[in-house]
Amino acid sequence: MPIGAVVTDAHGNVLSRGRNRIHERSGPSGAVFDHKLAHAELNALLFLDHRENDPRACVLWTTTEPCPLCAGAARMTDVGGLRYASREPWGGSAAMFGAVPYLKRGDVRVVGPEDKQLEGVLAALQVERFLRLGPEILGRFLRLYGEVMPEATEAGRRLHRSGALREMGREGAPVSEVLTRVGEEMTSAA
Ligand SMILES: [Zn+2]
Repeated sequence: MPIGAVVTDAHGNVLSRGRNRIHERSGPSGAVFDHKLAHAELNALLFLDHRENDPRACVLWTTTEPCPLCAGAARMTDVGGLRYASREPWGGSAAMFGAVPYLKRGDVRVVGPEDKQLEGVLAALQVERFLRLGPEILGRFLRLYGEVMPEATEAGRRLHRSGALREMGREGAPVSEVLTRVGEEMTSAA
């Protein structure tokens, strides 16, 4: 899944990183992989050295609005801030921080998407990946994405139809190239 996360200190220095490893058969020692719980934020939080760093002074950055598991994990590890680059209409649970007493009491500073273009690219990647995986919930997932982020959803559909990302994956194209390609698709979908 195209989701990544890092934990930084108050100055923005990266202390740990993680990525979604649900569909990966192997991973570094200490990471969760090949499991439904192998989420990016969870992996980034697991690699944060809690003895060396005060989590209250740390910020969890993630490409995608955290799911209930990762929102809970952020609270349970006492990070001071959470920032995400793209809304996630299907499982995004940032609203839990304002609704669930336990999460509210954690006083985690939550900052949502600040860059429309970046959000569009990330959402298009997510849509393309779901189309490839074809899970049972695909229809409902796409409907929700289409309502909230129509252009990104269209760009994701087009990327899937053209097979562009599959081909770039096979060729081992650098991330920068992939992002440029998705950005172009976003521009023509707009
Ligand atoms: Zn998650």
